[in-house]
Amino acid sequence: TKMLFNDQIMERGNLIDIEDRGYQFGDGIYEVIGVYDGKPLMMDEHLERLERSAREVQLKLPDSISVLKRNLEELVAANQLNEGIIYMQVSRGAAQRWHEFPGLDVTPVTVAYTREEERMTEVENQGANAVLTEDIRWLRCDIKTLNLLPNVMAKQKAVENNAVEAILHRGDTVTEASASNVFIVKDGELYTHPANNFILNGITRRKIIQLCDELNIKVNEETFTVNELLSADEVFVTATKSDIIPILKIDDQTIGTGSPGDITKKVLQEFRSLYQHGVKN
Ligand code: PMP
Repeated sequence: TKMLFNDQIMERGNLIDIEDRGYQFGDGIYEVIGVYDGKPLMMDEHLERLERSAREVQLKLPDSISVLKRNLEELVAANQLNEGIIYMQVSRGAAQRWHEFPGLDVTPVTVAYTREEERMTEVENQGANAVLTEDIRWLRCDIKTLNLLPNVMAKQKAVENNAVEAILHRGDTVTEASASNVFIVKDGELYTHPANNFILNGITRRKIIQLCDELNIKVNEETFTVNELLSADEVFVTATKSDIIPILKIDDQTIGTGSPGDITKKVLQEFRSLYQHGVKN
């Protein structure tokens, strides 16, 4: 398959310097964009978020967003990707290893590749379990950086317990999950952690808030506690490509009726209509 290396589409290969700052420090930013029926979903929103992440870590993107967009579209076409994801990252570049930013002569390194992935229709329809774990991350979770070790450890705990996700809490407050945002339903209204420094403001999360507004389902961007999570009527997690996954059980606690709730199903159906034109299921 082909990859994007800076602004060239080329055969995938080992082109990364051992002193690339992404590799050594996790000093870089990334995005994952879903591709449905050969079309990237909400690419502009993802690239806008990349721009914001770049600004927050003072990384100067080497290419304009419009060039990046064209390159990524070209990559999808070159790989004839129909269903899957685009992964892209920009590291601060390769330089002798000193913690501080390198000089202006060092240009950030952009890489992107695609991966075929089936749609997760079955787990989205049937739901899955989650575990709870303490959120041990730093205080700028709003930036989509390459530093993912706490997320990796949390997801590993989930997998070891046959769960799809690890839901994170800072003390009593539920923040998000290892690689997704968390919503709960209580008395017909949705609650999700506000978009501040404690969570990544998911593109899927934002779209769901917008769709719920159109559906007249109230969304409260307010924090909720671990107890409120466990006693919610419905819980679901949201992320690129896995869309919306109903959570049926958290640790040993069954959520609601133990099957996907009506509001969750409604939101999922509405979200699917973004890429399934004509067919709704
Ligand atoms: N939170 C975290 C920590 C994530 O890594 C992700 C992305 N997988 C999300 C939330 C969901 O964001 P998005 O909907 O933009 O994929």
